[in-house]
Amino acid sequence: MRRTRIAEIIAAENIGARYTVMGWVRTRRDSKGGFSFIEINDGSSLAGLQIIADQELANYKSEVLKLQTGCSIKATGTLAASPGKGQKVELKAEEIEVLGWADPDIYPLQKKRHSFEFLRSIAHLRPRTNTFGAVARVRNAMAHAIHTFFQEKGFIYLHSPIITGSDCEGAGEMFKVTTFDLNHAPEKEGDIDFTKDFFGGPANLTVSGQLEAEIYALAMGDVYTFGPTFRAENSNTSRHLAEFWMVEPEMAFCDLEENAALAIEFLKQIFTSVLDNCKEDMEFFNRFIDSTLLKTLETLVSHDFEILTYTEGVDILKKAKQKFEFPVEWGCDLQSEHERYLCENVFKGPVVLIDYPKEIKAFYMKMNQDEKTVRAMDVLVPKIGEIIGGSQREDDHDALYERIKEAGLNTDDYWWYLELRKFGSVPHSGFGLGFERLIQFVTGLSNIRDVIPFPRTPGNLSF
Ligand code: ATP
Ligand code: MN
Repeated sequence: MRRTRIAEIIAAENIGARYTVMGWVRTRRDSKGGFSFIEINDGSSLAGLQIIADQELANYKSEVLKLQTGCSIKATGTLAASPGKGQKVELKAEEIEVLGWADPDIYPLQKKRHSFEFLRSIAHLRPRTNTFGAVARVRNAMAHAIHTFFQEKGFIYLHSPIITGSDCEGAGEMFKVTTFDLNHAPEKEGDIDFTKDFFGGPANLTVSGQLEAEIYALAMGDVYTFGPTFRAENSNTSRHLAEFWMVEPEMAFCDLEENAALAIEFLKQIFTSVLDNCKEDMEFFNRFIDSTLLKTLETLVSHDFEILTYTEGVDILKKAKQKFEFPVEWGCDLQSEHERYLCENVFKGPVVLIDYPKEIKAFYMKMNQDEKTVRAMDVLVPKIGEIIGGSQREDDHDALYERIKEAGLNTDDYWWYLELRKFGSVPHSGFGLGFERLIQFVTGLSNIRDVIPFPRTPGNLSF
């Protein structure tokens, strides 16, 4: 008999049906009446299934009474309406088979609540907790919603490369990819000779798929990437990972205003979809992680986003009564305390800031007529700050050439990027969204290490 998932059994409420379920024991309670309640979870939903094990079972004394948190079992029986509180249905077992034991003296996950920090040290077991199970399901639902959003709009999903020969923005520390024996790398005049390396030149892990997405946007129209990116920045914050996933749409024939409108529509649709499809998990986060979560998301879905220029934002911040750790001046890069102040104290919701000073933004952003600001946009949300960064791209060959030089980069390295502006150049725009930041926002989890299955951060790579 095939197993049926618990989520399916609970949804169908098919009283009297026979099922085989398999899962991991969360709790066992023994009743004086000569039977036991065994709660199992199989990952398909937050809720588990209560199994009633009667003393008449052949292995009741020898095995059932020895079941502990973490053991895996197979149970076959009939579904009945549950008289107890907390669940509508329960399975009256006719047979219980123990698949795997878990010695309670050494099994690290016990009934009590463990700290997230401790759970990070047991990444191989933490998905068996309520919180990490819920994160895994919500993460999956969000990935699905992201593909659905773009696919329904006719965007082409582009697989941008993970190993790259170009340093996208010239900024951001990159991880090198090499097959050299690091103790004996071939040298040429004191320098490492990368012509002898695997690719015949230096190679890195990508920090963004944007430049490659631009190539495809300028042929296919609308494309998006959704894949892993890597940054060797040594920022040990609750919002930075060394390996994280990015969503990067890129649209030809699209200006900054349309770009911002797409970003807003995108966020609203993802939030709506999670609220609709992950009700149980979202209620769990609202109850145990952040009690303002559901309200925040619901408001966000139904409200307009504030759009203002960087200059207007800085004016507001300069007049603010609040003391900031980093003082604000026109031209400075906004810190997350500033971004949060705008969202949380001033506009009470998400904010899109546009037209940033060119000095603090990447070379590829289109220059405004004032020659001081570029067509950049950051989408800022309460509690997190920046969640999306995007821009209209410079589509004028000569202007781009100058900006690459100004940024201290080698124009030769960008020959193909420049050629895109020589042959059939068109206005185009796009943005990058950190998938984990979005999950943080949706789940309320304050540390980014808790929304990715296997977090990679400076000094941490257990397995
Ligand atoms: P920040 O100032 O927060 O470091 P950034 O300006 O470096 O962000 P971008 O280069 O614009 O970020 O990257 C696009 C998006 O990727 C960001 O809006 C953010 O959501 C996400 N992001 C950037 N760096 C990280 C990181 N180290 N870990 C997780 N997400 C990140
Ligand atoms: Mn950064």
